[in-house]
Amino acid sequence: MTRRSPHQPLVVANWKMQLGVEESHERITELKQQLKTVRGRYQAVVCPSFVSLDGMKKLLRGSDLLLGAQDVFWDDRGAYTGEVSPMNLREVGVEYVIIGHSERRQLLGETDEMVSRKVVSALGHGLTPILCVGETAHERNEGRHEVVVRRQVMSALRTAPPPTGHNKLYIAYEPIWAIGTGEAASAEQACMMHQVIQQTLIDLYSFPLVEQSYRTLYGGSVDEKNVSQYVRVDAFHGALVGTASLKPETFASLITNIIKTF
Ligand code: PEP
Repeated sequence: MTRRSPHQPLVVANWKMQLGVEESHERITELKQQLKTVRGRYQAVVCPSFVSLDGMKKLLRGSDLLLGAQDVFWDDRGAYTGEVSPMNLREVGVEYVIIGHSERRQLLGETDEMVSRKVVSALGHGLTPILCVGETAHERNEGRHEVVVRRQVMSALRTAPPPTGHNKLYIAYEPIWAIGTGEAASAEQACMMHQVIQQTLIDLYSFPLVEQSYRTLYGGSVDEKNVSQYVRVDAFHGALVGTASLKPETFASLITNIIKTF
């Protein structure tokens, strides 16, 4: 497989609920230090917990690291106990937002309909959505992975306008059986699913628009050792990384390995 995309890969760190506020701030400072020598050569987003977001923007200055959130609500304000407004995210400097992560779909009952509303809201507020899709092990074993992922993409984007201007919409293919298990999808499996996603996007929009505004990522047990194989996948535009993003030295070497391969 050869690389065709001229775009610089995006690497997204999903810190989930793994770190405290001070810990997050310390790790970002350390990561910034580790990436000093490769400034201008990577594109990376860090998504800490909501309560760690404030103050993070200041700490990211002097690096290429951008700020992301792990979720967003679909309305701007109102009686929605516990939810976080896209306006508040913008206020603290957030530029990217993960939407429809499988942990939210599976553990918190997030539906395709909710995911779709969140994508529309994010785009409306100038936040770059990172839409997560992916099948369970059971769905793959039954040969339904392509149908499931196609349905997730279609439902999420059905009512969403395409990103405007230079904005992008990222779709992260994250097979649920690969998340946090150490059992990453093979480059061939990832490649096939990237093609399914690309074709779904082309069916929804048009080839030139997809080329210009849509990007695909792979996520699921990506680490500093295996990341290079995904960089070589045709449709690869980056990676969504959980566990391997938590330690600054590991995440920095993952980014460095992408730079070497790309
Ligand atoms: C994730 O949860 O988005 C993820 C990719 O996790 P991990 O890298 O730990 O599999």
